[in-house]
Amino acid sequence: MTSHGRFPPESRTDSDLTTSRTHAGATPDQPAGARTPPEGPATPGRRGGATPRRDPADRGHVPPRDPDLYATTNHFRERLRQPGRYVSLPTVRETITEGQLRWNTTDGWRFALVREGVRFVVVVGDETTSPVVVTGWTEVADWTDATESERWPRADVEAIQLRTDLSDNRDRQIPALIRPREVPRPVTVGDHRVTSEAGAGFVECVDCECRFRSKASLCSRQCR
Ligand SMILES: [Zn+2]
Repeated sequence: MTSHGRFPPESRTDSDLTTSRTHAGATPDQPAGARTPPEGPATPGRRGGATPRRDPADRGHVPPRDPDLYATTNHFRERLRQPGRYVSLPTVRETITEGQLRWNTTDGWRFALVREGVRFVVVVGDETTSPVVVTGWTEVADWTDATESERWPRADVEAIQLRTDLSDNRDRQIPALIRPREVPRPVTVGDHRVTSEAGAGFVECVDCECRFRSKASLCSRQCR
């Protein structure tokens, strides 16, 4: 069965999570075609695909603002560990507490909070009795603000933008969007840890040394 997990007040590591609740399917955490964060091969379907719209009747209750009430999914905890995602428990807490809350016809309820040019997005399940954090990611909300901020080193902003471009164009090869990106520290996409050199129209995995130009190809090929 499920158990309530809690966000510890100030913690950054996955081991601080107290729940091992799985996402049992009351809220599909990766609806096909949804605007979702970069995901692995087990979660196909993103923006641009067929998009089953969520019925407003699915909305249920408005999600609470108290992060302590939320459990987390395994899916989400895996994402917390991924380099390049820039989602931490403290930022998730802050986003739930202070972010804008919107109903989205693909993901359901989302909290979103912009800090120094970067938007944190947290998707929550609105299960009536046990709210759950389904997933979270970052996006560049304002390139100038982000790159000029003290909080976000340029390489991090580049990495966030790279992930977004790959995810927003999942099934397309996007050398023109990859080419400007300089991402020296590997970020996890699918099964791979990729970097990108400015001027190169591909990302390259530091483990298997394969080169990719699309999220779809990253997610369809296993790393060594
Ligand atoms: Zn690889």
